[in-house]
Amino acid sequence: MSGKKTADALIIGGGIAGLQAALDLADQGFRVVIVEREPSIGGKMIALSKVFPTLDCASCITTPKMAAAAHHENIEILSLAEVRSLAPDGDGFDARILLHPRFVREEDCIGCRLCEYACDVEVPDDFEGGLGAHRAIYVPFTNAIPQVALLEPEHCIVCGKCVDACPTGAVELDQEPREIEFSAGAVIVATGFRLTDMAAKPQYHAPEIANVISPLVMERLLAPHGPYGRVLRPADGKVPDSVAFVQCAGSRDRTLGVPYCSRVCCMYAIKQAMLLSGALPFAEITIYYMDIRAFGKGYEEFYQNARAMGVEFVKGKVAKIEEASDRGVVLRYERIDGYGQVEERKHDLVVLSLGMLPACDLSDRVPLRVADDGFVNVPRPATEPCLTDRDGIFVAGTAAGPKDIVDTIAQAGAAAMAAANYLAKTRAPAEKEPVHA
Ligand SMILES: Cc1cc2nc3c(=O)[nH]c(=O)nc-3n(C[C@H](O)[C@H](O)[C@H](O)COP(=O)(O)OP(=O)(O)OC[C@H]3O[C@@H](n4cnc5c(N)ncnc54)[C@H](O)[C@@H]3O)c2cc1C
Repeated sequence: MSGKKTADALIIGGGIAGLQAALDLADQGFRVVIVEREPSIGGKMIALSKVFPTLDCASCITTPKMAAAAHHENIEILSLAEVRSLAPDGDGFDARILLHPRFVREEDCIGCRLCEYACDVEVPDDFEGGLGAHRAIYVPFTNAIPQVALLEPEHCIVCGKCVDACPTGAVELDQEPREIEFSAGAVIVATGFRLTDMAAKPQYHAPEIANVISPLVMERLLAPHGPYGRVLRPADGKVPDSVAFVQCAGSRDRTLGVPYCSRVCCMYAIKQAMLLSGALPFAEITIYYMDIRAFGKGYEEFYQNARAMGVEFVKGKVAKIEEASDRGVVLRYERIDGYGQVEERKHDLVVLSLGMLPACDLSDRVPLRVADDGFVNVPRPATEPCLTDRDGIFVAGTAAGPKDIVDTIAQAGAAAMAAANYLAKTRAPAEKEPVHA
């Protein structure tokens, strides 16, 4: 174990919430460390195609924040890292952080990808929803930060080609996990969300039916640098003539233990439907829904635009999904806008609008309580949405509950401000190092 380091704030999770909170604190002169368990910061947002309601390119607005955090003199980013334990210590906290081996020395890697080109092993690429492949040693994605390769030992055949190809000698096959200690004055939990499991509803037969996909896979299909560079259905590479979205396929469903609304599924389905109308002008696009919840600024207009563009909205609950003999997908649904007729329709490709589930698995290591729904407990959500039930620990973004990006960023700013106030009360101001004097 290396010696103990200090930071004003420890931020757990380097998605858009963690990055925004880190930047807001660092700009005030606080020293921040971000602990991110993936090999790159950016969270889910960096994998999105465009964002509702403005249809801005998602990576064009996420990458500058990632770069700003990476280059900020008051921010240290620990990727492939996890909090092992967090214990109160006076007014602050003592954290033990586990650094997983990358098998590439971060300080020496120049991101040239020569190791990747030399490697012969192909592995399904999770960033592309499994539709593309990466090598056993690879840079996670084009605008990953840090822009450093990592090697997956479970796929490596130890042929040594990457070691020979690396111009800086950065590949280090015998790296071991390391633990470091941090002492921090405040903690912000920004661990985000995960999606409902595709297999959660057995009657939908996902993921056995390859042409039933998750919304994050559709984001990658729509992204300019996605796995195919165009929208093709995964089972056979056909250009789909008809695409359907099944709403509430993981939210507002007591059988799944998810009674709440995930708040973003209506809007991301409408966004994807609009983008598909542009990418596949002759395709029929249908959204099967119970209610459309277009609650934010400009969202209702966005929904009305989708209708005007010809996206069909069918008020009905999908009961069953089956595969047709030509690899099409048959939906059986009950209409809820008429007399409850049960109808069937075939589509080429179906997207399940999965719900948002909590991703915070820290409660056994961090003195933090989660609520009954599994999200971080916020005792006074109406007035103090970023305060947890523990002094000095704050929450930002979807770690506290389903949210869109606008609300995530607003809450991250509020969490940074609350942490700054807390630090000002518990620490001597002289310890601060203002950046903008
Ligand atoms: C398909 C889809 C499309 C969407 N489209 C839009 C859109 O167009 N517009 C919009 O406003 N919203 C959209 N959203 C919602 C948007 O993705 C979220 O609001 C946003 O990503 C939330 O950011 P976050 O930082 O809270 O969480 P995340 O993006 O989940 O980031 C959390 C980070 O924490 C890390 N982490 C988790 N646990 C740990 C741990 N224990 N230790 C260390 N690190 C950890 C994760 O690896 C991740 O990097 C969409 C969502 C989906 C599913």
